[in-house]
Amino acid sequence: MNEITILGAYGTKGEDVGTSAFYIDEKNVLDAGNLLIPLKERSAEIEFIWLSHSHLDHIIDIAYILDSYFAARKKTLKIRGLPQTLQAVKEDFLNDRIWPDFSSITLFGSDLKCVEYEEIEFNKKYELSSGTYIEAYKTDHTVPSCGYIITKKGSSVIISSDTYSLDSTIEIIDSREDIKSLVVECSFPSRMEKLAIDSKHLTPKILFEKLKAMKNRKIDIYINHIKPLFLEEMTEEIERFQGDYKVKILEDGRKIIF
Ligand SMILES: [Zn+2]
Ligand SMILES: [Zn+2]
Repeated sequence: MNEITILGAYGTKGEDVGTSAFYIDEKNVLDAGNLLIPLKERSAEIEFIWLSHSHLDHIIDIAYILDSYFAARKKTLKIRGLPQTLQAVKEDFLNDRIWPDFSSITLFGSDLKCVEYEEIEFNKKYELSSGTYIEAYKTDHTVPSCGYIITKKGSSVIISSDTYSLDSTIEIIDSREDIKSLVVECSFPSRMEKLAIDSKHLTPKILFEKLKAMKNRKIDIYINHIKPLFLEEMTEEIERFQGDYKVKILEDGRKIIF
């Protein structure tokens, strides 16, 4: 069965809710908003973090899984993302001022570096294991950003991550038959449209207006990145705007089967 697990489904942290992170397999996660608490000691086994962009809610637990399980880690953690994303993590986060520069520290009892940075390219398929691939595509946010397509045994899920435009996401969905599920962000209620547009996020109203351009009506749609304070209000709005789309709102711990 093809599945990914949602480690963090929300647009900010709150009581018992985590920010963006997806568990692909025992070595690979997509974004690092919420790794430490759900994965615990399994955090030390993660070898690749695929970042969508540099915002704190997508990178924060890089700091804690390195620190909390420092002695348990046996392999280098490879942080993969767009060049600008990696530059921001190196210069503004793991920079020896905010948190240690783990790329200059070796693993406990080893010559291997704790962290290495590896740039990725748009639209290139990276093989994670036999039959499992990930590829990045360009999205539209306030900083350079990408969404990802994860393919297992010929069937795929597309994850927009934070974006305002859905043009690239819809183009991919409508040009590929392997994509069965869409995870799309929706951050603010429709009454906060200006804030959503300024911060390059979606509201339920904007999301479903944009989805009208998508020809594929059978795809399973999962919504993430809701700001928890607005969960009830936005759940009601999503039900109002969703029409005949198959829509579910994601929660931490939920699995997506595709
Ligand atoms: Zn963001
Ligand atoms: Zn975010």
